[in-house]
Formats: sequence, C-alpha cells, structure tokens
Amino acid sequence: MNRRSFAAQRKRPERPMRVLHAVAELYPWVKTGGLGDVASALPLALAREGAELRLVLPGYSAFLDAFAGVRDAARLKTPFAAERVRLLLARLPQEGGLAYLVDHPPFYDRPGGPYHDQEGRLFADNHRRFALLGYAAAALAAGADREWRPQILHAHDWHAGLAPAYLAARPSGEEKAATLFTVHNLAYQGLFPAAIFPELQLPPAFFALDGLEFFGQVSFLKAGLFYADRLSTVSPTYAREIETPRFGAGLDGLLRARARHLTGILNGLDPEIWDPARDPNLPQNYGVEDAPAGKRAAKLALLRRFGLEERERQPLFGVVSRLITQKGMDLVLESVPHLVARGTALALLGTGDGDLEEGFRAAARAALGRVGVEIGYDEALSHRIIAGADILLMPSRFEPCGLTQLYALHYGTLPLVRRVGGLADTVVDAAPEAIARGAATGFIFDDETSDALRAAIDRAILLFRKPEARRVMMRRAMTRDFTWAQSARQYLALFRELLEERGRSAPA
Ligand code: ADP
Repeated sequence: MNRRSFAAQRKRPERPMRVLHAVAELYPWVKTGGLGDVASALPLALAREGAELRLVLPGYSAFLDAFAGVRDAARLKTPFAAERVRLLLARLPQEGGLAYLVDHPPFYDRPGGPYHDQEGRLFADNHRRFALLGYAAAALAAGADREWRPQILHAHDWHAGLAPAYLAARPSGEEKAATLFTVHNLAYQGLFPAAIFPELQLPPAFFALDGLEFFGQVSFLKAGLFYADRLSTVSPTYAREIETPRFGAGLDGLLRARARHLTGILNGLDPEIWDPARDPNLPQNYGVEDAPAGKRAAKLALLRRFGLEERERQPLFGVVSRLITQKGMDLVLESVPHLVARGTALALLGTGDGDLEEGFRAAARAALGRVGVEIGYDEALSHRIIAGADILLMPSRFEPCGLTQLYALHYGTLPLVRRVGGLADTVVDAAPEAIARGAATGFIFDDETSDALRAAIDRAILLFRKPEARRVMMRRAMTRDFTWAQSARQYLALFRELLEERGRSAPA
C-alpha cells in the first residue's frame, strides 16, 4: 500500500453536515409559488450531496395528515400559548426525509391557504403563526431536540425571518447553529404594526433601525436580513439588483451594508417532477432527439384542450403564472391583440389580480379560437402548457429566480423574458451572434413596456419561421444543466465557509 492510499484510508470520514431548514411551504402539500418547490427539492439535493437534512414546518393539517409521526422531539414553552407546544418529528413520504412539525392546531389547523382564509384575506394572527415557526426553529438551532442538533439553520423568506432574531436573543453562552437567511422574493416582507412587537417577546432593543424595525413597523423579512450570519437570494443578478433602490423595496441600504455576506445561488429544477421523458401529463414523452414529435403531440393536445384553431404552423405562446404586475401580466394582456393580429395563438393558465383575471377572460371571449384562458391553479395543465407551447411568455418586472422559464427550457419551449434577475441569468437571447455560437435559448428584452414586449414577440415569430435555428435553440435549451445538484454544492460550500468562519468547522 503506498503512502497516499494509506493516508486516505486512515482519514476519518467527515461527518455529514447537519442542516435545518425553516420554511412555511412544502410541495406538493402546501405551495403558493416557487418557495414550495424549492423547499421540497433543495433539502433532497443537499442530502444527496451528503448533508444531513431536516425541515421545521408549521404543523398544518395537510402535513400532519400526510406524514408519519416518529417521536415527540421537544415541548417548548413559547410566548404564544399557555400550554407547551409540541415539536413532532415526522417522516416525509418522499425518500424518508425528516421534518419537525410545530404542532399547534389553534394556529395551523384551519381552512384556507397557508396565509389566507378561504376568502383570500390574510389571517389576522399571521405574526403569531409565523413568529412561532421562527421561535421553534431557533429553539431547535440551540439544541431543543437532544437527539439532533443542527450546525446550520437555513431560514427561508419572511415566514421564517424571526428565526435568526430569536436565536440572536438567546443567551450568548449557548451553543447555537450558524444561520443563513434566503430571500426568495423581497417584495413579501411580513410587515406588521409596531403594536404587535411586545407579543413577540423579543428584547425591546430589537425594535430599532439596527434590528427588525422598518419605518415604524415590524418587518419579519428585515429580522432575517439583519440577524442572520449570511444572506442569500436565488440568482446572482437579483442579489446585486436588491442592493439598489429600484429593486431594494426600502431594504437596499441594509443589503448594501451586508453586501459582503450576500450571495446569489440559482434555484434548480426537480427532474422527478419536470422531465419531458417521464412526465405523465404529456400525450407523448420525449427527449432531446424526438423533441419535435413530442412537442407536436403536446401542442395539438393543448390547442384542443383550449378549443384553439389547429394551426400547427403558427407559433403558440404559453403563460403559466400568477396574474400580477410583478410578472408583467399587464404587458401580456396589452399585447394580446398584437399576438392575434400576427396570426399566433395564446394558451394561458393563472390566477391572481381580479382585474387581470377579468381582462384575460375578456380577451379570450374577444378572440375565440385564438386565445385560450384558464383561470385557476392546475399542476397537470401547467405541465401541458410548458410542453405544448412553442414560446413561454415571462416578461417579469422583477424576478428573483423564476422556475417556469427553467421548466420551459428543459421542455424545449423557448422563453421570452425581460432582462431582469434570474431570467437574465438563465436565458440567452437569440442575438445573431449567440445563434451562430449555438448558445441562444430564448428571447430577452429590456424596457418595461408592452411596445418592447411586442417587438420581442415579433422577433420570436420571425425565428419560429426558421426551422434550423429553432431546432438548434431547442436542443441547447433542453441540454442546459439547471439541476439542483449544482445549487446544492454551492450551498454546501457556503455552509462550510460559514462554519469555518465561526471557528467551528464540522466537528469530528
Ligand atoms: P413565483 O414563485 O414568483 O410564482 P416561479 O416561477 O418561481 O414564480 O414559480 C412559480 C411556480 O408555480 C412554478 O412551479 C409554476 O409552474 C407554478 N404555477 C404558477 N401559477 C400556476 C398555476 N396557475 N397553475 C399551476 N402552477 C402554477
């Protein structure tokens, strides 16, 4: 045995890093957007890279019903209930992951969504519901479960924003996990009136500019941004954008001050759910080689599903989106007559602002056979649109990462996007030079106007009529690697750095 292999053999295997994710959504049980997708895919990808992962989640009945209880991990005295709150360790059905459920039915067992009641009104006690999530996460990060103590607490979005604050408020002598706070969308800040601050039972000094106060209000998001050791967001471009007043939503000053600790790591796509070769929602599965045939079948099925004229030679534009101005859906609505005048068709799925919903319904009535609109949330149909459309419209005003364009790329559907955030990081514009290099994967425009969108639509239509260029772009789009494994490795590198910085690299 030479020295090298002997040394390798002697080296003790590194113990896996223990990471606790605090998050309010988890696909497929509770999801309002990309956050739910990320919460289910990222921990799995980290586990595959060798980390030991657990989640801490609100004890929604959807979770309690679906997961098998393993043991009572802790009972916490909290500011939010007279009785102790149980943390139930439960096993997820998928790949046996483990999650702590904050079991407090008065907070989490109610009809409606994770944040809204059945009429779409925010729950009046959301500050308590998500403060409890943060409180429980901090307790676990400080060793509340005697059998498992995380080294890293990774908190996501405002719902878990108080976790780093509660951890910071615990006695300084205590052994605590290091914290990463990830912003999935800076626009959702978890703002509450100052009057609720005493209920949180945080030190009074925390309600300050250097703390979680935001223009006289309590900001759960700012708590995460201020108290976490490290910050990240979901694309490199968005990480820099939010340091500017234009995208910073009033927090750009703090983000500039913390720029050294703020990184952007792209989200990935989950091939278990988004893979045209295995997707059960498609009329015909396809890979890179037989994409033209597979997409033709998907397009035909989609045209029929929406009652659109079966004009296969015309490009079909698709939208799967929340119908809100952030996503530029007002620009799309203004451009519908243009799409129709150009002889193309549109298939749209979405819910959101009542005005936009009504606007799209009216647009469909005005252009029967050319514009198909489904107002609602429908996973299966979203897959059919992503596969069956030729071009996906996503002209967001801002976009932290965006998942839909990644799905589209993977399915050979060319995204048409604004040059912003994660869209700028993941789509390569069909400029002649990029087409010649074989790098182009979509269409990008700059100005936040429907004129600019329409010009990009015209470019896309022109390209659609060049089969060879289109084929090269589709192939390139489908073979770009946007898997979670890549992102997971970047998160792990960040965690390692964080632990080393804290002078307690992964213990033996
Ligand atoms: P955001 O999280 O800002 O809404 P993303 O692009 O990151 O935007 O993620 C949106 C996710 O929600 C994607 O998985 C997309 O397919 C899905 N989605 C959005 N609207 C609908 C809908 N009406 N029906 C089904 N899925 C939808």
